[in-house]
Amino acid sequence: MDERLAERIRQLKEEKDAVILAHYYVDGEVQEIADYVGDSYYLSKLATKVKEQVILFCGVSFMGESAKILNPGKKVVMADACADCPMAHMVTPERIAEVRSEYEDVAVVCYVNSTAEIKAVSDVCVTSSNAIRVVKRLAQKHIFFVPDENLGRYVASQVPDKHFIFNDGFCHVHKSIEAEAVKEAKRLHPDAPVLTHPECTTDVLEISDFIGSTSEIIDYATKDDRTEYIICTEMGVFFELMQKNPGKRFYTVGHRQFCPNMKLITIDKVVEALEKLEPEMVLAEDVREKAFAPLQKMLELAE
Ligand code: SF4
Repeated sequence: MDERLAERIRQLKEEKDAVILAHYYVDGEVQEIADYVGDSYYLSKLATKVKEQVILFCGVSFMGESAKILNPGKKVVMADACADCPMAHMVTPERIAEVRSEYEDVAVVCYVNSTAEIKAVSDVCVTSSNAIRVVKRLAQKHIFFVPDENLGRYVASQVPDKHFIFNDGFCHVHKSIEAEAVKEAKRLHPDAPVLTHPECTTDVLEISDFIGSTSEIIDYATKDDRTEYIICTEMGVFFELMQKNPGKRFYTVGHRQFCPNMKLITIDKVVEALEKLEPEMVLAEDVREKAFAPLQKMLELAE
């Protein structure tokens, strides 16, 4: 990156008392200037610990909302207010109320990839790295898993003593990774294990060698002795994979592992957001308070 631009970002961070958090799915050059890069779980935990007064979030809206829910006293600024996750909107409070009225002993388990409005009517939040651990620790017999059906089905397969109700939400990036394309990648790279995010469909999970969150995929590839891997998640993760494993090779499956929402975030937008401290993430206080409890419960149960 241009050294003058990097210096400008350093100055602005100091001047504004800001810290930059970025998700693994944003462009590599944005990850490069971030103070912390990680998956949703890591970033939501971290957001409660940073000392700076301004959190600049390079990710989609629900991530900035989570940072604001956990840190009401801090200013959370989004690198791009239009970067949003379609899956976060694929369940409604009305549907949750309907399921609550059908089952007495039900826990609404909400993937963090959801709006603050949905978190506010849920019992507990989960991320792809802690969902199994959290659901196992819940007392309720019935689990309404929202909004992602694929992650819900994967968690259900690992927690067979609970009864799951699924919602038909999905991530279009992970859903576009098809089992046939994975088989073709295996044919081309027979020595490469398939590392897959659980937002992928069940038929892809069934032919995978490892299933985990983005950070678990990075850890797996970094600790593993082999030298090549087929990666079934958003391609932004390749930046960290290659940084940590310069001698290894990573393959995509087709050409659709690309989240257009995450890629809205650019260095220029980061600079502009730092200069203006806008767009700010603002939440109604009653929604923020209600959404805090399930996120807090997740942080407790996941430990
Ligand atoms: S990769 Fe999928 S879940 Fe993540 S922000 Fe993009 S659309 Fe949403």
